[in-house]
Amino acid sequence: MKLKRFFSIPIVLVFCLMSFIYYVTIFFLINNWLNLQSSVGSLHALIFTFVASLCFFSFLVCILTDPGGIPSAYLPDVEENDSSDQEATKTGRNQRLCDKCSAFKPPRTHHCRVCRKCVLRMDHHCVWINNCVGHRNYKAFFVLVFYATMASIYSLIIFIGCVFQKDLDFSGNMPLMIFYISYGIMTVGLSVTLGTLLGWHVYLTARNMTTIEYYESKRKAWLANKSGLLYHHAFDVGTYRNISLVLGPNVLKWLIPTARSHIKDGLSFPTARDNS
Ligand SMILES: [Zn+2]
Ligand SMILES: [Zn+2]
Repeated sequence: MKLKRFFSIPIVLVFCLMSFIYYVTIFFLINNWLNLQSSVGSLHALIFTFVASLCFFSFLVCILTDPGGIPSAYLPDVEENDSSDQEATKTGRNQRLCDKCSAFKPPRTHHCRVCRKCVLRMDHHCVWINNCVGHRNYKAFFVLVFYATMASIYSLIIFIGCVFQKDLDFSGNMPLMIFYISYGIMTVGLSVTLGTLLGWHVYLTARNMTTIEYYESKRKAWLANKSGLLYHHAFDVGTYRNISLVLGPNVLKWLIPTARSHIKDGLSFPTARDNS
């Protein structure tokens, strides 16, 4: 049933865009600039193919991985529920009820109106992968954004190299000039957009926040400030540990989208209070 997710216009558009950039970079830009038969040309083609394949693989993992739903047997921890509301909010362990699913929501779980279900550690619903980004596929999403940014910047560098080669002459070839200008604008736009998105998710990961929690934290910090208190995000357990909780304890596996044995059930998360 997961294959149904591929029947979406944004996914088809992403497939077409990936294929187009791959084809132009390898068979047009690298071939024109360095010649694919040369050793430098084939080395660039090989490296670009490697990055593009990892990007494509991460994209498939994002689409096909279930972000994580609430198990039918899930019941909130009674002991934790006994604590006062203020205490519960402070520890991030307050149990809430989803009126649409009629189920208790574990901490960090949110209801997605598009998927029509509750998603564990929900970050956001992404139309480009036709899936929610949540507990089980957040790492793959992070890695996808990383590889997409790298591939985009790589293609831009090849494009710049190709444009500045000495014998490139557009005289009398208007369509070729339009093609080069359009491709340049597209790769600059993509590199800036994806680079910004990557920076944003590096920041969120370093603080152990989801996109939803970031916006919630703005309101909570304002409320705390009004009461003369200092707001601290409950799940922020230190930068390195925050990153390890998302990407894994082994640095060598950080950029492998399927290396997710460190990902637990998503029903509870370590908090800053556990350390104190
Ligand atoms: Zn729900
Ligand atoms: Zn969703």
